[in-house]
Amino acid sequence: MIRFTAEQEEFRRGVARFVDAEVVPVAAALDERAEFPRELFKRLGALGYFGLRYPEAYGGADADMVTYCLFAEELARGSMSLAAAACMQSLMGTHFVHAFGSEALRQRYLVPALRGDLVATFALTEPNAGSDLANIATRAERRGDRWVLRGTKTWVTSAPVADVLTVAAKTSGERGLKNIALFLLDRATMRGITPGRKIGKMSVRASETGEILLEDVEVPEEHLLGGEAGGVEKIGGILAEIRVMTAAISTGLARAAYAAALAYARERVAFGKPIVEHQAIAFKLADMLTALHAAALVTYQAAARLDAGHPVAREAAMAKLLASETAVRVTDEAARIFASYGLADEYPVQRYFRDARFLLPGGGTSEILKVVIGRELDWDRGQVFG
Ligand SMILES: Cc1cc2nc3c(=O)[nH]c(=O)nc-3n(C[C@H](O)[C@H](O)[C@H](O)COP(=O)(O)OP(=O)(O)OC[C@H]3O[C@@H](n4cnc5c(N)ncnc54)[C@H](O)[C@@H]3O)c2cc1C
Repeated sequence: MIRFTAEQEEFRRGVARFVDAEVVPVAAALDERAEFPRELFKRLGALGYFGLRYPEAYGGADADMVTYCLFAEELARGSMSLAAAACMQSLMGTHFVHAFGSEALRQRYLVPALRGDLVATFALTEPNAGSDLANIATRAERRGDRWVLRGTKTWVTSAPVADVLTVAAKTSGERGLKNIALFLLDRATMRGITPGRKIGKMSVRASETGEILLEDVEVPEEHLLGGEAGGVEKIGGILAEIRVMTAAISTGLARAAYAAALAYARERVAFGKPIVEHQAIAFKLADMLTALHAAALVTYQAAARLDAGHPVAREAAMAKLLASETAVRVTDEAARIFASYGLADEYPVQRYFRDARFLLPGGGTSEILKVVIGRELDWDRGQVFG
């Protein structure tokens, strides 16, 4: 049984109150405007949520992964767009400068980013390199005491508004994964970093996504994070957290869709009774609730294993796979229960349905997750019950 501590329960209630008061009422308008939610983003920073996984010395809270997931789940229940921007900021956007940056870089970038004063992101994907990172074409060349970066990144969360970017680039021309390095780029002080096309999309519309064009960007040596190789291993060091976080936001979205569908099924009358009393609808809700339970359990089990220091690559992949596919299914079924009203702008169900699609590629597609799970196919009772 997964049991939250009293502090974790109290924390969750605090996030839920904030989400109900300040996020739920504006979520539809944010989605409609499709603009980065700057005010709420700053508010999350001011409330200390971006610093959950970081030491107190940098303004963080030193919280465990279970607590972080409670935050991510509750926030996604209110707005997946806001959760997408916030989770990028508080995990990938700031992780690498904390883990591999100098003290000066941490003070200059990490501390203000955790307060919400700088927008941070992570740029790995390229037009010809998504799952297949060996195809990365962005090059970093050493010139004297600097590096010069050139290339195109795409599908970068918060690209149009980002102040600091951790960028993956190759430090030599060979194909493969060995020569990938991570650089911290600062839009304010480095020339040649241009937001390219903003990508119009059906999902997480208020989490702006776009290209980043790098044209001979001169980067001081200090901004090379952790040496000129080993970038893939560094990314691997946070991949389980990214996947467990994605499972948590999937669970939050599925919860929102389930709650909306249940309320509607109790209130909508057809053939003389509320539709929840038609067995076909009750069975849908039963399937949705069962899947939601399973998604929540694997998510928090993976988070707890991570906190306990156990190997978690397979469990994180399973959690992300199950929870994201559950969110897609539950939001689909919720829209069916609403029938025509599931398409209507005035109900949030159409937004939940659209937002669920974002969960499939982020943190690894379902196919890639099965590749990861397929590496350890033996049944291991300890990993389930231990
Ligand atoms: C809203 C949003 C925000 C994003 N934010 C960021 C960000 O901030 N930074 C960033 O770097 N990226 C970001 N991404 C990009 C995302 O991480 C990639 O899209 C993802 O890695 C998949 O890459 P791809 O789209 O190029 O698909 P591809 O890798 O081209 O895959 C295409 C299809 O082939 C399948 N496939 C590929 N390889 C295999 C294989 N070996 N075996 C079986 N099937 C395979 C895939 O599962 C998929 O179905 C974001 C994406 C979205 C949608």
